[in-house]
This record gives sequence, C-alpha cells and structure tokens, in this order.
Amino acid sequence: MIQQSIDPEEDDEVNFQSFSHGLHIGGRWVQASNGRQIEVVDPSTEAVIAAVPDATLEDAASAVEAAALAAPGWRETAPRKRSEILRRCYELMVERSEMLAMLISMENGKALRDARGEVAYAAEFFRWNAEEAVRITGEFGIAPSGTNRIVVDYQPIGICVLITPWNFPAAMATRKIAPALAAGCTVILKPATETPLTAYALAAIYQEAGVPPGVVNVLTTTSPGPLTSAMLADPRVRKLSFTGSTGVGRTLLAEAAKHVISCSMELGGNAPLIVFDDADLDVALDGAMVAKMRNAGEACTAANRLYVQSGIHDAFVEGLTKRMAALVVGAGTDTATECGPMITRKAVAKIGRLVEEATLRGAKVQCGGTIPDGKGFFYPPTVLSEVPDDVEMAREEIFGPVAPVFRFESEEDVIARANDTEYGLAAYIFTRDLARGMRVASKVEAGMIALNRGLVSDPAAPFGGVKQSGLGREGGQHHGIAEFMEAKYIAASF
Ligand code: NAD
Repeated sequence: MIQQSIDPEEDDEVNFQSFSHGLHIGGRWVQASNGRQIEVVDPSTEAVIAAVPDATLEDAASAVEAAALAAPGWRETAPRKRSEILRRCYELMVERSEMLAMLISMENGKALRDARGEVAYAAEFFRWNAEEAVRITGEFGIAPSGTNRIVVDYQPIGICVLITPWNFPAAMATRKIAPALAAGCTVILKPATETPLTAYALAAIYQEAGVPPGVVNVLTTTSPGPLTSAMLADPRVRKLSFTGSTGVGRTLLAEAAKHVISCSMELGGNAPLIVFDDADLDVALDGAMVAKMRNAGEACTAANRLYVQSGIHDAFVEGLTKRMAALVVGAGTDTATECGPMITRKAVAKIGRLVEEATLRGAKVQCGGTIPDGKGFFYPPTVLSEVPDDVEMAREEIFGPVAPVFRFESEEDVIARANDTEYGLAAYIFTRDLARGMRVASKVEAGMIALNRGLVSDPAAPFGGVKQSGLGREGGQHHGIAEFMEAKYIAASF
C-alpha cells in the first residue's frame, strides 16, 4: 500500500495514488487480511475511481487492539498537548481544503461549492474541540448531610466505535473524532463504503498533525453488521456513536444493548419548513433554497415538507420554481455546478418512485420530475405543488432535490401537521413576527429550529434530534464532548 501522505503542492489536483487508502490501523496502512477490495464510484460519471480494502473480522479485531494499546497514553496526554494536536488537524485541513473538497466531490458527487462548505464545517470541529479539550472541568460540593465532600470528575469513556454515512464524508467523521480525542478517547471509524477516500485522506492528516498511532483507526467494509457486532462484543469498547438512517440506528441500539454500551445516535429527519403569510418572501425563498438544496437535498436536515400559508402560497411557489429550474445541474467537480448527482442509481430510483406516487395522488409538477438519460446518477431540481398530506414523501426522507409544497391556513393546523412524523431533527420557520416565531419554535417537535434562515448546523451549537431522529448531541458547548466522557463521583471525607 502506498505510504506517502497528501502532497500539499498538488492543491486541488486529486491523484489517488498520492495518498494512502489502505486500512489505517495502529498508524499503519494495511490491506484487508483477505486481500479483497471495494470499488469507489464517481456518481457524476459512474467511473470507478479507486479501490479500498474490504476489512474482515480479523482486521476489526486488530483495530480494537490498536485503539486499546494507544488508550492509556492518549488518556494521560496533557489536555494542552491534545488541544495543540487538534488545532494542528484544523490548520492542515484548512491548508488542504481545496484538495479535500475535490475528493469529496469526486466520491460523493456533491457540487464543489457544497464540498468546500463541508470542509470548512468539518475543520471547525477540530478548532472548536481544541478549545474544549482544555476546558473539561468537574464539580465539587458538600454533601447535604455535611459528612463528606462530593467530588465529580469527568473521565474519557474508553474506546469508541464511530460509524458515519456518505452524505457528509468529512464532517460526520470530524464531528465525532474531534470531541472523542479532546475527551481523551481512542477511536475506530467505519466510514460509508460509498465515500471512504475522504476518511482515509483525513486519517493521513491526523497522523501528520501528531495524533499518535492507534488513537484514530479507520476501516472500510462491505460487512458492517458482523464487524460492528464483533467490535461491540469486545468489553474494551465502551461507546458507539452512529450517524445514519433510523432503521440501522435501531438495529445498532439493539446490538449495543447486549453489552450495555453507551450510544449516541444521529438519525434520519423529515424537516418541515413553514412559511407564514407575514414572512419576507425573498428571505423565505433564500432560506428554502439553502434548506432544500444544500448537498442537492442529501442532508438529514433537508427541508422535506414545505408548508406555505395561503396568502403567500402562490408567490412562494412561483419564486421557488424559478430558482429551482435555474439551478445548474452537472458533475460535482465542475465549478459551475449547483446541483450534483445523487449518490447511487438506487437513490435516483427511490426519488423517482416518490415523485410518481405524489403525482398520481394529485401533486402538480412545477419543474423537473423526470429522470434524465445518460451517465451519472442525476435527478433534476423539482417543485411539486398542491401536494396532499398522505403522500409517501411526507413520511419518508426524500434525500434529493425535490421540494413538495403543502398549503396551510392556520398556525394550529401547521404545527399539528409539522409534528405528524416519527422524526424530529430540524425545522424551519419563516415569519416577521418574532413572538409567533418563538411560539411555534417551542411547539414544533425538533431538536433544532432555524428561524428566518435556511442553515442550522454550527459546531458551536448542539446538533441532534428528538423522537426517532436520535439520542444525544454533537457539537455545542460541553454537549458534544460530554458524549465521550463519564462522570466519576468520589465521596471524600477529610
Ligand atoms: P445508513 O444507515 O444506510 O448507513 C450509515 C452507516 O452505517 C454507513 O457507514 C453504513 O455502512 C453503516 N451500516 C449500515 N448497516 C449497518 C449495520 N447493520 N451495522 C453497522 N453499520 C451499518 O445511512 P446512509 O444511507 O449512509 O446515510 C443517510 C442517512 O443518514 C439518512 O437517513 C440521513 O438522514 C442520516 N443522517 C443523519 C445525520 C444526523 O446528524 N442526524 C447526518 C447525516 C445523515
């Protein structure tokens, strides 16, 4: 396996031979023990662009072993030193951001502008957690009985298994790795098989930044279920942090329950976007475009149901259709592209099926709605109006560039409809009336609310969902790092 790390001189050129993409175990780059590989496909062209190892149970055991060997040293590393290494990870990611963005665009297909945004967001988790690493504090108090002091110390939870999806190959990994390392934990990352290259490129950066061997291990596999079960069965593993679909999250919660392992779950969403009559139309349209079209709709926070009040409905649909129809669709790596391809052909077929079902039930296609011929997994930006409430896409994540618009009349009505889902990740509200905005925000069942804006993610804010969108929070002051620590209480008499 090629040992060379990323060449900063190459800047935005991505030469796959120029960086290691073997399994990253104990600081070494190795092939899978069975020699098998997984092909990585560019969704814009359908071309195979690289291959990565297909890890076995034996490789997973080696990764846990490496994380266990590195654990005592990393846990004892001074917080200031850990902080400086994390800060260096941030700096190197920023230095290499153009190359990383190009890599993300190639393996995920997202438009380069979205990939650049992702790299900046992903790097920020290192900067933020470099600052958090030196601010871990405990508690000290007197017991109510007066007999002793209560001392509470926060300690690293132990070895963590981290599992991430393909839609944000850099950010979903750094949102876990950075706080875990700040807390003093060692980790095994299993990125999605569709987008493994970014994870390996980042592993080389961590190593260059001074993260010791074994502190971050990365492995790719086509058998995530058996490998995860085996890792969770190792008593040294104490944490599972998962980002992905609610279905897989449920399976993993059951698996973790067998060993009573702490779980953080960032799962699926079905975000409502609510536009009241008194909203500023341009602000609402700008916000809707970001909430719907960041990553071509392949985001857990993507607006999945757009509820628009009757008085502003027609102007909103007209404005949204104009903006969606004008988007440049193309290869992710093309700088002009505003909407790249979907991740797989299967994803395109699912979106096509949802749109067909909605139109059969009476939804009107304002733009898009037809799968194009030719290479690449493309689906056009699509607006549907007059969408009835009982369509499948109102219950399921569309995960694509389709905006279904539903009409509503009253505040009570829209709150009930917004909450009529098993999910509760993000929601968007547009109104000029701040009192109404805050009232509706408090009643909508979601972990995150964007008020008069289309973007909610921020490393400095707690990210996460309620209901079946997950358990726990990532990012934010204390929240993200707390997921990787455990309280130890000492009853002290002196
Ligand atoms: P997915 O659940 O299919 O896969 C996620 C990860 O889990 C991948 O690495 C996959 O290989 C792995 N996996 C699959 N089956 C597994 C098993 N049995 N055991 C262990 N690991 C397994 O999800 P996806 O299609 O990659 O990503 C899209 C989903 O992720 C959407 O539902 C989206 O909403 C969600 N998501 C949530 C957030 C959030 O922060 N809440 C962020 C991004 C994506």
